Amino acid sequence: MKISKLALVSSLSAASFLSAQFKQTPLPYAYNALEGSIDAQTMEIHYTKHAAGYVANLNKAIAGTPMEKESLTAILAHVSKESPTVRNNAGGHYNHELFWTVLTPEKNTQPSEKLAKAITETFGSLEALKEKMSKAGADRFGSGWAWLVVTSDKKLAVTSTANQDNPLMDLAEVKGTPILGIDVWEHAYYLKYQNKRADYLTAFWNVANWNEVSKRYEMATKGKFDDWPALKTFHEVMSQTFHPSEEGNLQPIKTRVGEMVTKAKALQSSSIPPEFDKPAVKNSLANLVEATKNLERQIKKKTSDTEITKTLSNVHDTFHAVIGLCTADDKH
Ligand code: MN
Repeated sequence: MKISKLALVSSLSAASFLSAQFKQTPLPYAYNALEGSIDAQTMEIHYTKHAAGYVANLNKAIAGTPMEKESLTAILAHVSKESPTVRNNAGGHYNHELFWTVLTPEKNTQPSEKLAKAITETFGSLEALKEKMSKAGADRFGSGWAWLVVTSDKKLAVTSTANQDNPLMDLAEVKGTPILGIDVWEHAYYLKYQNKRADYLTAFWNVANWNEVSKRYEMATKGKFDDWPALKTFHEVMSQTFHPSEEGNLQPIKTRVGEMVTKAKALQSSSIPPEFDKPAVKNSLANLVEATKNLERQIKKKTSDTEITKTLSNVHDTFHAVIGLCTADDKH
């Protein structure tokens, strides 16, 4: 009896695991919502046939592999080591999920103030950016995409990729986080525009969703710890006391150790952003509080500078252990 119950449990969990595959997000508007720029039939075939095909083939290709447990962006980051089927379909799924969101029937959306400023600084003007992207799309030989990306140094760049590649792939020539992508495969425009890709690219800007692009820009340029002010506050007192100590100056830490203890305690009791909220991080924060208290005791007891320097260095290491735990890519 017990054995059959176990078998039932494991077959149930296998079934629920299979259902957790990649899926298409419902289109946020009707197929005909972009008429005038992109026709209903193109939208319907594009969404229900082409894009649906990529996700189905992706799920098939990764079934039974460790990639089943990975996020889509994690797969893209090592896609050069995978089969062409995974490369084409993981890219295809990511690219189309982004594409639907950067289109909108809403008229005259505009880049946010922050994005507008970055566009002007990088390209001269919004018009110049549109021209550059349209040119990237028009010059892409065969099938592919034109992209506006945020690079690792938080700068804007325009690039294009072939087929279903994208700038998140480890093999991309220009890497970055895409915030706007234009599909220049014939299936995206041929019914209405036939061979006139340039006309489709011009029309694209009438239905571009700058609200979404701005939101993606905000996410892509955000600092990792922006949502954790207590961490930044602690880091400040840490660096302003530790770095002088490296040069033999213990005055800052001797003056500010009480503040450091207070800020370590505040950090421990702060609300930890969900992506960092794990037991190992909490343990390290508790260690950090203990290490700062220990340092305070030593300074009060007028322990030797050598000992204080050693303990401060230990506090510093403990703090970096917290950062390390938060930075480690251990999604699964
Ligand atoms: Mn497409």
